[in-house]
Amino acid sequence: MSSTVAYFYDPEVGNFHYGPGHPMKPHRISLTHCLVLRYDLHKKMKLYRPYHATERDMCRFHSDDYIQFLRSVTPQNVQNFTKYLSVFNVGEDCPVFDGMFDFCKMYTGASLEGAVKLNNNQCDIAINWSGGLHHAKKYEASGFCYVNDIVIAILELLKYHPRVLYIDIDIHHGDGVQEAFYLTDRVMSVSFHKYGQYFFPGTGDMYEIGAESGRYYSVNVPLLAGIDDASYMQVFKPVIASVMEFYQPTCVVLQCGADSLGSDRLGCFNLSIKGHGECVDYVKSFNLPLLVLGGGGYTKRNVARCWTHETAVLLGEQISNDLPFNEYLDDFGPDYQLHPDIFSKQENQNTRQYLDNIKQTVIDNLKMLTSAPSVQMQDIPSDLLSLENTEEPDPDVRNSQEEMDKRVEANNEYYDGDKDNDKENEGFLDV
Ligand SMILES: [Zn+2]
Repeated sequence: MSSTVAYFYDPEVGNFHYGPGHPMKPHRISLTHCLVLRYDLHKKMKLYRPYHATERDMCRFHSDDYIQFLRSVTPQNVQNFTKYLSVFNVGEDCPVFDGMFDFCKMYTGASLEGAVKLNNNQCDIAINWSGGLHHAKKYEASGFCYVNDIVIAILELLKYHPRVLYIDIDIHHGDGVQEAFYLTDRVMSVSFHKYGQYFFPGTGDMYEIGAESGRYYSVNVPLLAGIDDASYMQVFKPVIASVMEFYQPTCVVLQCGADSLGSDRLGCFNLSIKGHGECVDYVKSFNLPLLVLGGGGYTKRNVARCWTHETAVLLGEQISNDLPFNEYLDDFGPDYQLHPDIFSKQENQNTRQYLDNIKQTVIDNLKMLTSAPSVQMQDIPSDLLSLENTEEPDPDVRNSQEEMDKRVEANNEYYDGDKDNDKENEGFLDV
């Protein structure tokens, strides 16, 4: 049986710029969307122009003063905020740019609406390639991330789901999400990432396993440079299979950072687009409600290829290796293919023995889980937003991207749900 897939895309989201020379380029989302349309994948799924998150939505995780700062600061008035820049870690990696807060509202709103649609059984899979900003912390920006849309979406899922599994295949450790849920068994965070030699953000060794009620509910798979598809699968599949067996999640959030591909501008792994997509296909095979998010990815053309391929994987569609004609075709030369050869300068430093050791340690830790936790799901708080009429009206008509963008209707109606129960300490959430 095929899944119902909801896809969230705001035509404005690709127009933001972090600044000259900055590796994070929101335009990669437009590039991805363009390929998705040209492969006709939009005909197989529900397209939504996403809700924009409010400050209140953001403050379910972040501190009020941090969000107030993000709302207020602009490139024009930044000199009035100099003393706050270091407090909130805004400046170089996370610059103040035009429309920064609007950008945060868009990518966060899309993840949040994806969670709401999953909760209401309006889709089996929700996709937001603009989301997945996993480094943002309760009180500060980090690693190109300002608002942690993943934590906010997971908090929404927890209203209906006793156990949420978070999987992160970005090359960087999913530190912001792990930290938020470090003390709880309601969320299991599983991150596969490069670790060592001061690689950003510096956390995520095998012995970070969670604390208090969350002990054994943080899972870290630290990897070395140059990992290829075969080596990655040697750990990814057995670890995820054990996580599914021992944790029995009721839904899954998958962060698909594409900086784990070979040839990434910032990364040093050597995954192919097929290998990266195989992780997505494997997670999908468990048939649980699934929120799929973007993340890192700094060689734009490969990010677009990767997330287009993964959109097809999630739809169970086969698409041609020859890229269809599109307005950005020049960016995809000289091969013009979906799966070009991706070269890496990096040797694979992960030996079979190194990977077997990690796999064994991680699986031994999972065996420490006595039973999957359950909670009484009474008094479900109301949804954060209303869900009427956001569906793209006629997805069967082929249109240019501009026309398609215009036709996707916005729905900014919402009402505020309860204030969530986040603790005022350390950025940990008590759920
Ligand atoms: Zn990354």
